[in-house]
Amino acid sequence: MLQFEDSAEQRPNAATLGLQSVTDTLPNTQAAALAALAPKSPAAEQMRRVNVADKRIINGRTDVNQLVPFKYKWAWDKYLSACANHWMPQEIQMARDIALWKDPNGLTEDERRIIKRNLGFFVTADSLAANNIVLGTYRHITAPECRQYLLRQAFEEAIHTHAYQYIVESLGLDEGEIFNAYHEVPSIRAKDEFLIPFIDTLTNPQFKTGTPETDQKLLKSLIVFACIMEGLFFYVGFAQILAMGRQNKMTGAAEQYQYILRDESMHCNFGIDLINTIKMENPHLWTAEFRKEIQALMEQAVGLEYRYAEDTMPRGVLGLNAPMFKEYLRYIANRRCQQIGLDTLFEGATNPFPWMSEMIDLKKERNFFETRVIEYQTGGALSWD
Ligand code: FE
Repeated sequence: MLQFEDSAEQRPNAATLGLQSVTDTLPNTQAAALAALAPKSPAAEQMRRVNVADKRIINGRTDVNQLVPFKYKWAWDKYLSACANHWMPQEIQMARDIALWKDPNGLTEDERRIIKRNLGFFVTADSLAANNIVLGTYRHITAPECRQYLLRQAFEEAIHTHAYQYIVESLGLDEGEIFNAYHEVPSIRAKDEFLIPFIDTLTNPQFKTGTPETDQKLLKSLIVFACIMEGLFFYVGFAQILAMGRQNKMTGAAEQYQYILRDESMHCNFGIDLINTIKMENPHLWTAEFRKEIQALMEQAVGLEYRYAEDTMPRGVLGLNAPMFKEYLRYIANRRCQQIGLDTLFEGATNPFPWMSEMIDLKKERNFFETRVIEYQTGGALSWD
């Protein structure tokens, strides 16, 4: 049962549930409440209709159940593109991967380590991401266009968890070892421990936005989620498995990672648009002190992801080595900073893996791993930033 309170402080929270227009007129007595719900004059009804100019990404007071009139068209467009990119893990053939994994001479020990560490991180990472959206972010966003995208994104996180589980099962890996890696492998644990306080902020039932302090907390968590978790912590793993695919190894897994990378880069771009719009609507949140704090988090995250790169690649493998990833992570961190309007942190960092950009843009890649037609879409034209 939903409980409604009359105090003004409670109203923004009721608004997030889409009940604001009711609670706004809900006085103390039952009779008065019923009277408030009775048909009103056309003028009063008009007042309840959503005025597009009143919509806000956070702390909005318009009805969240009315998707239109659109204000945040970019969010709706991303929702459409995401649906057009729909895919399911079990559609991808794993027979070649299974044969290679079972062949004692198929892969080196270092290559096997990469695969196990990779899955060890990702099997629980997308579950953390899904919980962050469903139990956290979604409640605090009051733009229905953005909520619509978040619903799609949450399902994609489920598909990704499914994909990793499907790879673990196909290869016959030790499930206990892989699914507990986030407790047991220090380089993975450290990344999750960094993320969890920010996820906890959003999922805490007591947490409400509406003050500069809480709004900054929300913004910080959104930045950590989009720019650091989905925008940085996924990239060593993605580059490693896709490098394997480029060498014709673990092509089924690599193909799934390629779809996941496409989805994740849209999650990251959506998050960046969300962050920048919140900044625009609430410029008082973007203080010099706040910006410094975000840069410090970004720097710390680069260190954690580099530690993970070293742990997964104690030696050079597949033409890759940990120092190349140091440069790559610095390059990505600079890009994330630029995308949200922060000064870059690492002067002159360049991209050692230009092929990764082609991996994100599936339009350019046809049948890359020769497993199936890679230009997979179920809906309209593939078109996204
Ligand atoms: Fe994601």
